[in-house]
Amino acid sequence: MSSTVLIIDDSVTVREQIIRTLEPFNLFTRYYEADDGLEGFKKLLSHPADIILCDLEMPRIDGFKFLSMLKARPELQDVPVIILTGMNDRERKLKGLAQGASDYITKPFDPEELVARVKVHLKIKKLQDELRRSNELLLELSNTDHLTGLFNRRYMMKALDKELQRCARKGGNLSLVMLDIDHFKHVNDEFGHLQGDVALQMVALKLQKELRSYDCAARYGGEEFVAILPDSTPEEALFVADRIRLAVQNTKFSDVLSGLNLTISLGVVSFSPQDSTTVDGFIKLADDAMYRAKTGGRNRIEFFDPKTVPRPTAAAEVSNGKTTEQN
Ligand code: GH3
Ligand code: MG
Ligand code: MG
Ligand code: MG
Repeated sequence: MSSTVLIIDDSVTVREQIIRTLEPFNLFTRYYEADDGLEGFKKLLSHPADIILCDLEMPRIDGFKFLSMLKARPELQDVPVIILTGMNDRERKLKGLAQGASDYITKPFDPEELVARVKVHLKIKKLQDELRRSNELLLELSNTDHLTGLFNRRYMMKALDKELQRCARKGGNLSLVMLDIDHFKHVNDEFGHLQGDVALQMVALKLQKELRSYDCAARYGGEEFVAILPDSTPEEALFVADRIRLAVQNTKFSDVLSGLNLTISLGVVSFSPQDSTTVDGFIKLADDAMYRAKTGGRNRIEFFDPKTVPRPTAAAEVSNGKTTEQN
């Protein structure tokens, strides 16, 4: 694995000595140098480092100023800084450590001590990086539905809550599409549960493909899905819903599933300030609409509010909130 060290010192000789000392240990694939804090900071922004060795006494931007510049950048907080100080600089060592340095080396440095300290801090940095990566992975997993790769219900509820609050406070549009696969029990009965899973994955893929990057597609339950559409009017949401409906209807399955014709029923709801603004209330409206799409014949869309039924925009004719295409 490649590692990078940034050496900041106004003395070329010291920088060369450090590089010569470290090189035989193959700890680093790249060595960057800077002769004051400002240049070091600029280098760091364009070339991330795994560890920084920084002189305290330098003209212009010295080591202390460099440390305070680092502090202001949260993304650079984890990079260990070893400060280079004079032998009897007790006060300055303490001040450097208090300002965020991880360790210090006194000059003229003992080569073995330099290598040992660099190794320790490099190891800590690697462990921290691994920990951060596994935390990110855990977070991703805890938000993801493992079968489809979409967001799970838990995440969706949180995301919807945020969007609803944002809309209630700032106004604007927000729509929700809930969909359920039609007669999915037959699919399991005819092809088996494993093939049923394949069909579910396909529907998830189609759903995701019809959405924008800032929409949120989630698996709500068994064969039910939800799409949160921020900044979408009822008309836009109906348009998207119908694209999803058609994408599923036109899906060509292969292998064992070839010949399967899958359809979905959808319920669409749009936020309006006078309505319930709770997540559960909002979902219930979409769910009710979806239920009407089921009882109304399936493979169709229903909009939640008969008072504000939008004009048709979708490929399928929408009249009085119902698509007329039926199976
Ligand atoms: P409807 O058109 O009324 O929705 O009919 P349906 O057959 O889809 O009815 P319902 O929603 O009651 O049934 C859903 C079925 O989905 C029942 C369940 O076995 C199946 N199912 C739920 N989760 C999964 C899953 O993870 N994998 C598979 N293969 N099937 C699932
Ligand atoms: Mg100096
Ligand atoms: Mg179903
Ligand atoms: Mg269902």
